[in-house]
Amino acid sequence: MHNSSLEKIAALCKKRAIKLTPQRKTVLEIMLSANRAMSAYELLDLLKVSEPQAKPPTIYRALEFLLEQGFIHKVESSNSYIACPHFHNPDHIFILFICNQCHKILEKHSMPIEQDLKQLALESEFQIKHSVHEIHGLCKQCQS
Ligand SMILES: [Zn+2]
Ligand SMILES: [Zn+2]
Repeated sequence: MHNSSLEKIAALCKKRAIKLTPQRKTVLEIMLSANRAMSAYELLDLLKVSEPQAKPPTIYRALEFLLEQGFIHKVESSNSYIACPHFHNPDHIFILFICNQCHKILEKHSMPIEQDLKQLALESEFQIKHSVHEIHGLCKQCQS
């Protein structure tokens, strides 16, 4: 599945006239195939497999680019990063359900919550740039 996501993202980059460099692409590929949240250092170690000269700034620049484009999200509570399945819409408000036990993360969307937040911001004359919604608990498998 992640191959088609990668192709779609490459097409989006072309459309936005931005460069998905081989490095950025590799980082994204690692994240898509891992299908879980990863720290910058974990990503760096995996990037070094194909690019032994990679350094921390390499990974942070790649992450910054991917975040800016809305291809990934930062998980603030664990200081890690996760690929976003809704990358075609960079402005979406996302809710992360984070399992305390297996650390699996589910990304969810809710139009009513998104509309409520936008309405509240409008009433407060506040311009939303970034919002964090992280819900901690137990996933289905870990409840039993
Ligand atoms: Zn998302
Ligand atoms: Zn779990």
